[in-house]
Amino acid sequence: MEPFIHIQEIEALLHQTASATPRRIHEVLDHAALGKGLSFEEIGVLLNIEDDASLNRLFQVAGDVKSKIYGNRVVLFAPLYISDYCKNNCTYCGYKRDNLFPRRKLTREEIIREVQVLEALGHKRLALEVGEDEVNCPLDYVLEAIDWIYEAGDIRRINVNVAATTVENYRRLKEKKIGTYILFQETYHRPTYENLHPQSLKGDYERQLFAHHRAMEAGIEDVGGGVLFGLYDYKFEVMAMVMHNAALEKDRGVGFHTVSVPRLKKASGMSLDSFGKGVSDREFKKIVTILRLALPYAGIILSTRETEEIRTDLIHHGISQVSAGSQTGVGSYNESAFEDKPTTQFEVSDDRSPMEVIKSLLKMGFLPSYCTACYRMGRTGDAFMEIVRAGKIGEMCHPNALLTINEYALQYGDDELKELIASFTLSELEKITNPVKKQKLIDALALVNQGVKDLYV
Ligand code: SF4
Repeated sequence: MEPFIHIQEIEALLHQTASATPRRIHEVLDHAALGKGLSFEEIGVLLNIEDDASLNRLFQVAGDVKSKIYGNRVVLFAPLYISDYCKNNCTYCGYKRDNLFPRRKLTREEIIREVQVLEALGHKRLALEVGEDEVNCPLDYVLEAIDWIYEAGDIRRINVNVAATTVENYRRLKEKKIGTYILFQETYHRPTYENLHPQSLKGDYERQLFAHHRAMEAGIEDVGGGVLFGLYDYKFEVMAMVMHNAALEKDRGVGFHTVSVPRLKKASGMSLDSFGKGVSDREFKKIVTILRLALPYAGIILSTRETEEIRTDLIHHGISQVSAGSQTGVGSYNESAFEDKPTTQFEVSDDRSPMEVIKSLLKMGFLPSYCTACYRMGRTGDAFMEIVRAGKIGEMCHPNALLTINEYALQYGDDELKELIASFTLSELEKITNPVKKQKLIDALALVNQGVKDLYV
C-alpha cells in the first residue's frame, strides 16, 4: 500500500492557504456550518486563521455543528491500564523502556478488583491500555483480560489500545467483541516520528500508519486515531489526520469512528523543554474546532490530561467524549493493594470524580451518557456512519443517554445528583414532540426507576 501522507503536499497546501482573504475565510466557515465536512484546501484556510474575529466565528460554528449532530450528549468513559511493560522507547512516555521502575502486569484477581472500583464509580465503557511487550504482555494475555473484564460485572464496552499488529492478531481481537480499536499515530511527520521512537518496533512509521487499515481488513469496524499534539506543528498534524481519515474512507469505506486529541504532558523521565514551544490553549481550541468541522461524524475524545476549565470550554465547541475519574497507572484504581505506588503514563490535570463531572455537565445543560447500545446492536462502522450522516443519531442516542444516566442516578447518585437528573429528565422529555416516542421513553424510564438495568433502544 502506498503511504498517503506526503510532507511536501501538506506543506504546499498550508503555504497556499496562508494568505486567504477574510472573504474566503467566511465562505469556508459558511460551508463548514452545513456540517458536511471540508476539503483539504478549506481545512488549510481554517488552520491559517489568526485574527480574533474569524477565530471566534470558527469556535461558534463548530459548537453549532456539534450540537446539530450530537445534540447535548457527552459520552463518559475511563481508561484501564493493565500492563506497563514496554519494549519501546517513545521519548515522551512514562512507560518507555529506559525508565527504570518496577513493571507490573495485573493478574485476573487484580483486574477484577480494578473493574469493581470502576463500576462503583458508575463506568460502563473502558479504554483498555497496555504497553508493547510480546514477552511480558502477549496478545493472549490481553485477550484473556478482555474476558475477565466482561465476566467481572457490568462493563458493556471495552475499547482497546494495543500496539500496531498483524491482520491475524486483529482478527483475534475482533473475536473478543471489542468496541473501538484505538491507536495514535502520535505524529504524522515521518522524520519527527522516527526521531521520537528510536530503536524500537514502534519506530516503524508505516507499521503504525497502516495499522487501522489492517484492523479493518480483519473486520474491526470502529477504529480510532489520534495525534499527540505538541510533538510537531499542529497545522501539519490536523491536515495529516484528516488525510488519514480520507484514506480509510477510500480504502475501507469508512473513516475514523473517533479521534483523540491528547496534548503533550509531563511524564517521568522526560522534560517538556525538549519538545519545543508546545501548543497553546488558543491553538488547541482551534485544533478541536477544525477537527469537528472537518470530521463532523467522528467522536472527538478529550482525556483528563486537560484541566477542568479547558475540558468545560471544549465540550461546547466539539468534544463529544470525555474520560472521568481516570487513573493512568497499572493498578491505580486500587492502589492500596500494592506495595509500590504505580508509575503513571502521564500526569492528570482534571482529577474530579465521575459524579462531579456529571453534575457539572448537567448544570451546563449537557446530557452525560453511558450508552453502549449501538455497538451491541451492530450499529458499527459504515452502518453507524450512515445513521449519523442521515442526522438520526440524536434521535436514537438521546433516549438511551437519558436511560443510562437515570440508571446511574439510581445506583450511585447522591441526593443532589438525583434531584439534578430528575429535573433534567423532565425538561428533556418536554422537548420530545412525538407523543409515541415520548410515551415509550416515559415507560422505559419507569422501568429503570424500578431497578431494571441496561435498557436501550
Ligand atoms: S507510548 Fe506506548 S509504546 Fe511508547 S513507550 Fe509508552 S507505552 Fe510504550
